[in-house]
Amino acid sequence: MNDRFKAYLISRDGERQRGEFVSLGTDDLMPGDVTIAVTHSTVNYKDGLAVTGRSPVVRHFPMIPGIDLAGDVIGSESDSFRLGERVLINGCGLGETHYGGYAERARVEHEWLVKIPDVFSAAEAMAIGTAGYTAMLAVLALEDAGVRPSSSPVLVTGASGGVGSIAVALLAKLGYRVTASTGRPEEETYLRKLGAGEIIHRSELSGEPKPLTKERWAGAVDSVGSRTLANVLASTKYGGAVAACGLAQGMDLPASVAPFILRGVSLLGINSVYTRTERRRQAWERLARDLERGKLQMMTKSIRLEDVPHAGEEILAGRVRGRLVVEIA
Ligand code: NDP
Repeated sequence: MNDRFKAYLISRDGERQRGEFVSLGTDDLMPGDVTIAVTHSTVNYKDGLAVTGRSPVVRHFPMIPGIDLAGDVIGSESDSFRLGERVLINGCGLGETHYGGYAERARVEHEWLVKIPDVFSAAEAMAIGTAGYTAMLAVLALEDAGVRPSSSPVLVTGASGGVGSIAVALLAKLGYRVTASTGRPEEETYLRKLGAGEIIHRSELSGEPKPLTKERWAGAVDSVGSRTLANVLASTKYGGAVAACGLAQGMDLPASVAPFILRGVSLLGINSVYTRTERRRQAWERLARDLERGKLQMMTKSIRLEDVPHAGEEILAGRVRGRLVVEIA
């Protein structure tokens, strides 16, 4: 049956990208063994890059952007998923090479799906989204590197953003003393409610980096990159670790090897898109255990599918606090 559904579709004509709301049929969907009635999606920084065309995130045109989705299985040729099951996807090429979450229907491969943990609604799963799941991957990486609450403080950069807000909430719940770095001092109350013990201005970390500075952090979650990451590495304590997941300040890393060879600091790379299934599930189990739903609610705002193009501009301009949920159905 070729059901009609609404989608946000972007296409490219030479250098020009344009987006429009269209009506498609399920026959227009890309191949996959599970069909989903999408109820919610979200807007991450990467979605902002995709919908504005500011960076070459989309690698196949036309494309339905949206790197995350949540919804109900309405068709399945896979033994692993049955009709009616509540599922989510983070990354896996969604919105880049495969039609993504900004549509009422999606057809995907079952290997990409994670069952939504019972404690979360579909909206909450998208309030977490790639940003929150990446924050959890970063926390897991710090734990694997031996960073413990007793060796606090830990630093979170880009703290008012999506990855940052969830990282602050998770680390605080786990008992770490959290320092939040932000360019928005007006968000101090918000960050303290999420669990930050200390707030610093991001200008402390965004200047010209030195090879080493005073030892301050036992660990860090960095969603900013560039000079900020270089300064974070230079100020990480002996034996500490830094999980690097973002580039909000820039893609470059003007650092020296001094923190690695003189302080034994570890730099841990986080890529959420192609994380293996087992680690994905582990991250979602830990989110279900360690993320306080009240805090999640505090950091989340709901928008409509029609609002996505504007939200994409807003997130790139650093004007989105916390997380955005897109109500699809
Ligand atoms: P957000 O826009 O929600 O958060 C980014 C935050 O970074 C902003 O809120 C702001 O925080 C800070 N920031 C913005 N511009 C600058 C700047 N010029 N200098 C210093 N800080 C700045 O984005 P997300 O949380 O969705 O994503 C954060 C980053 O992580 C992005 O670069 C994204 O691409 C990356 N990412 C990577 C993933 C991976 O798999 N590796 C997965 C998910 C995200 P404040 O106002 O508090 O200073």
